[in-house]
Amino acid sequence: MRVKVDRELCRGLGNCVAFAPTVFALDAENKAVVLDPASVDEKTLLDAADSCPEQAIIVEDDEGNQLYP
Ligand code: SF4
Repeated sequence: MRVKVDRELCRGLGNCVAFAPTVFALDAENKAVVLDPASVDEKTLLDAADSCPEQAIIVEDDEGNQLYP
């Protein structure tokens, strides 16, 4: 699984960090950065992506097919 954050969309609300603190963290600009997507299962990743009200989190499978949003 691949995870990206669209920094233009991210408003630093932290929902993703609350859902998956081993995958997401907020940087000095209060934007989410990706840590270790392999540290959680697919459902947790998709739940974290779904928790983002800005739809700033993009989840792809290992072949690059977009799974979310
Ligand atoms: S939930 Fe969305 S807006 Fe909030 S920090 Fe994560 S990526 Fe950014």
